[in-house]
Amino acid sequence: MAEELPNGFTGFAKRKPGFEPASATVGHTPVGGYGPTGAAALAGTPAPYSRGAQGAFQYARDHARPNGGAANFDPDKLRLIPATDRRWAWTEIDLNAFRRNVTAIKQHVGHGVRVMAVVKADAYGHGAVRCAKTALNSGAEYLGVATVEEAIELREALVNAPVLVLSQPPISAIPLLLGYKVMPSIYEPDFAIQYAEAADAYGIRAPYHLAVNTGMNRIGVRYDQVVEFLNQVSFHRALDLVGTFTHFATADAAETLDFHIQTKRFLEALSGMRAAGVDPGIIHAANSAATIRYPDVHFDMVRPGIALYGLHPCQETRHLIELHPVMSVHARVTDARLVPMSEGVSYGMNYRSPGSVKICTIPVGYADGLRRGLSGRTDFIVAGQRFRQVGNICMDQCMFEVDMRIYGTRRRIDPQIGDEVLLVGRQGDSVVTLDDMANTLGTIHYELSIGFSHRMPRVYV
Ligand SMILES: *Cc1c(COP(=O)(O)O)cnc(C)c1O
Repeated sequence: MAEELPNGFTGFAKRKPGFEPASATVGHTPVGGYGPTGAAALAGTPAPYSRGAQGAFQYARDHARPNGGAANFDPDKLRLIPATDRRWAWTEIDLNAFRRNVTAIKQHVGHGVRVMAVVKADAYGHGAVRCAKTALNSGAEYLGVATVEEAIELREALVNAPVLVLSQPPISAIPLLLGYKVMPSIYEPDFAIQYAEAADAYGIRAPYHLAVNTGMNRIGVRYDQVVEFLNQVSFHRALDLVGTFTHFATADAAETLDFHIQTKRFLEALSGMRAAGVDPGIIHAANSAATIRYPDVHFDMVRPGIALYGLHPCQETRHLIELHPVMSVHARVTDARLVPMSEGVSYGMNYRSPGSVKICTIPVGYADGLRRGLSGRTDFIVAGQRFRQVGNICMDQCMFEVDMRIYGTRRRIDPQIGDEVLLVGRQGDSVVTLDDMANTLGTIHYELSIGFSHRMPRVYV
C-alpha cells in the first residue's frame, strides 16, 4: 500500500477494475428484502435517498463524480436519512395517546382544578418539549420539572407556560431562574432572601412555590414551621408566594394511614398560614396516584406525571381511569441464523440452542435501557407472536429465539434481516408492557421508561 489512509476513506481516487456500481444495479435490486424498504423498492416506488440499500446506491450514483473522485455528499440530503434508518432501534411516542391521557385527567379532576403536567427527566423518557407542548394544548396549564436545566430546555423551545422546578436549586442558579422566568420551590429562608434580592435588583418580582414537608422527609419546610418560615422572609417586597404544596410518599400504596397523616398535616399548615394572614396561593399536593384515587386532595391543582404517559401508578387506579400507553419500543432484526443444537449464544453462553431454532439479533442492549437483568426473562413480539429473548443482553445488542418447528395451528414465523421486532407494546393479542418488565426486575416502570430514552432515537406518531 503506497498511500496513507488517515481516516480510512482516502486513496480511492483510482477505481480497481472489475466493479461498476452504476451497471451493477441495473435490473437487479442490490440487497433488497429489508422489510418495507425492500418491498417499496421492488414495487417501483421512487426510493427516497433515505430508504435503505436502494437509496444508498441511488445516492452514490447521483453524487459520485464520474472520474471516480470522492463522492460529494450534501449534508442536507444526509440529514434526510431518518433516525430509524440510521439505526434499527427506536422508541415510538404516541402523542395521541398522551393527549387522551391529559384529557382523561382533566375530566377526572373537573372544572376549577388546574393540571400541572410533570415533564421532568425528559418527560419520563418521552421527550419533554413535545410532551409539554402537547399537554398545554390539551388543557394543562402548568409544567413541573426537576432541574433548572430542564426548565431552560422548555423555554428555549419557546414554551411560555408557568414552569415550576419541583425542588430548590442551588443559590448560584438564581440568575437562571430570573432570566428564564422559571419558578423555584423554596424551603430555606436564605434561598428565599437571595432570590428576592436578586429579583429586586432587576426590578422584577420573585415568584415561588413553598414546599411543605408533611412526612415524606425529602424536601420542604416542616408543616408546623411554615408560619415561622414566612415570618423570616415576608419582609421582602419582591418575594411572591404563588403556591404552596406538599408531596405524598404513599399515595400509590394500599395502606393509606400515612397518606391521611400527611393530608392532615398539610391542612394544618394551610390553616396556620391563613390564620397568620398569608394567602397560600395555588394549593397542590396530588401526584398521579393521589389525583386518580383521592379527589379530596385535588385542591387548586394536581401534578400528574406517570399517568400522562399512560402508565398506572398502582393497581388501585386501574379501575378508576382509562389510560393509554404512550411509549412503545421497536427494533429490526440485524442478523438471523440457524444455530445447531447445544451451541451457546451471547456472552457467557448461559443459553444453549435446543436445536431447530433460529437465533435473531436486534441492535438494542443495556446501553439503550434494555436492562441486563431481563436476560432470558422478557419476550419480543414479531408478526403478532411472542418470542423469548435468550442469552445475556449485551451493551448494544441482544438475541431472541424462534422455534422453527410447527405445532398445532401456530403460524410459522421465519424472521429475516430487516423484520420489525416489538420490545414493548401491543401487536394483535400479544402485548409486552413496561409493567411486565418492571415486575420481572423488581423495580417500577418509571425507571424503565426513562431508561429507554438515553440512546434510542425517538419517533413521534
Ligand atoms: C415526580 C413528581 C410528581 C409526579 O409524580 P407521578 O407519580 O409521576 O405522578 C409530582 N410531584 C412531585 C413533587 C414530583 O417530584
